[in-house]
Amino acid sequence: MNTIHTDILICGAGAAGLTLALDLARRHIAFLLIDQAQAPFAGSRGKGIQPRSLEIFEALGVADRMVAAGGYYPPQRKYRADGGYDEQPSTEAAASSPTEPYGQPLMLAQYLTEGVLRQRLAELGHAPRYGHALAGFEQDADGVSAGVATADGETTVRARYLVGADGGRSFVRKALDIGFPGESMKARALVADLTLSGLERGIWHRWGDGPRQLGLCPLMGTGLFQLQMPVPLEGEVDVSQAGLSAAIAERTGRADLMLHAVHWRSVYEMSSRLAERYRVGRVFIAGDAAHVHPPTGGQGLNTSVQDAWNLGWKLAAVLGGAPDALLDTYEAERRAIAAGMLGLATRLLDAARQQNDLRRGRETQQLDLGYRTSSLSLDERPRGAVPPAALHAGDRAPDAPCHGAAGQPLRLFALLNSGDWSLLRYEPAMPSSPADARRGLRTIDIGAAGELRDDSGHLRDAYGFMPGAMALIRPDGYVAALSHNERSPAMAAYLQSVGLRS
Ligand SMILES: Cc1cc2nc3c(=O)[nH]c(=O)nc-3n(C[C@H](O)[C@H](O)[C@H](O)COP(=O)(O)OP(=O)(O)OC[C@H]3O[C@@H](n4cnc5c(N)ncnc54)[C@H](O)[C@@H]3O)c2cc1C
Repeated sequence: MNTIHTDILICGAGAAGLTLALDLARRHIAFLLIDQAQAPFAGSRGKGIQPRSLEIFEALGVADRMVAAGGYYPPQRKYRADGGYDEQPSTEAAASSPTEPYGQPLMLAQYLTEGVLRQRLAELGHAPRYGHALAGFEQDADGVSAGVATADGETTVRARYLVGADGGRSFVRKALDIGFPGESMKARALVADLTLSGLERGIWHRWGDGPRQLGLCPLMGTGLFQLQMPVPLEGEVDVSQAGLSAAIAERTGRADLMLHAVHWRSVYEMSSRLAERYRVGRVFIAGDAAHVHPPTGGQGLNTSVQDAWNLGWKLAAVLGGAPDALLDTYEAERRAIAAGMLGLATRLLDAARQQNDLRRGRETQQLDLGYRTSSLSLDERPRGAVPPAALHAGDRAPDAPCHGAAGQPLRLFALLNSGDWSLLRYEPAMPSSPADARRGLRTIDIGAAGELRDDSGHLRDAYGFMPGAMALIRPDGYVAALSHNERSPAMAAYLQSVGLRS
């Protein structure tokens, strides 16, 4: 039997697996991305891309392509029994600001999001292998040996690490015997992508209350509508075109809506579950494999993308010689985030059931999530000198519009997006020198004599900088350390612990 050797075997080419693959591809890490499906997923399912995910997609070079392929959420129109209607915004939209370039969520059908990720992956010379199902694996001190079933028989893959990004029913999670405690939400719903006429496209149309609700949302960038409606917990659901036509006529009371085609449909039961562990030795789980929850709030795909974003640079660093303990921070950081997200999705589901309220606010945008309590967060500023509202180690690193030394406009994100660590030195007493250089760490001097000019003070304000202050930024765009002395013992130990050697 032939054996394929690689560094990372990624099981599952959904949003999580594709994001991880793209991050590894740009870091020139060898990987194999497999999926048991014969072809890419074809449904709209997770259609909301939150502002924090757009920032990640910007770093991966695909945000603008996604925005061009989709569109912003239209207002929701709720039809009343008396024939009138009420309208409200679907999302809390803000203009982009100096610190937050993406002010509102993007609507992009999941199959289009995954298509953009695959397109970029192909541009980097990679593609998922469909029709490849992970059938078993075992690990030893040096790596993981996996059996992969294909139409031509079983292949063995030998990898340094395995990542199970294989969805809510995760084979990898079950094979590792990781507990998946939680609860059923005692709710079942139908989602389908339709060609339908008789409805205005610039509105998310909603009818009915409780179990009689029905929503038809225009899928931006396509000619389709996404149908969503609760269905009884038990029994057969008629998902044929005739069955869906009848349900639409009955719940909307409209005889003029014509259903022409059903492109994709799915009936799913909602539950809220969180894996007890995200890592067992050389095997990790990410995305829905690690957490499932109701779709209210549009968090699942986004949280899955961010799991992959957290894990990618750590795997690359450890393959490059960083201590293995760095990989333990993946579970510590991401499991806490998922636990919070499960609570949020459940609260929003209750609001949708009781008050018929499907609006999504700032809390769903994921810009305020971070890792303050992580072992990777170091704050060396004097205690008491930091106002509570100030930026803290572990927070998302804000953007700032600046200028390069040549006077050209330059956003801070354009520098942070390189995938390296960054050390921002604000008006340093001495310029950085070749003697200070560490592999994988980019030093950026800010000020009138530095490479980056903060003429409007946006960067100073966002980071709370005083002359001589510095911020170490992680490869995934979170503040690692805030200090005044890059040579302090704590900073030196920190840099060693993440593999940044001089
Ligand atoms: C109705 C609905 C609406 C939603 N709306 C939103 C939203 O607005 N925003 C949002 O963020 N999320 C939303 N979600 C959730 C979102 O769809 C999921 O969270 C997301 O798909 C998770 O991505 P993933 O990559 O972790 O897993 P998946 O997308 O499930 O991908 C897993 C992949 O693994 C493959 N696989 C499984 N087992 C194996 C194996 N043994 N070998 C090889 N391959 C395997 C599968 O074929 C699949 O391609 C919604 C979900 C639903 C149902």
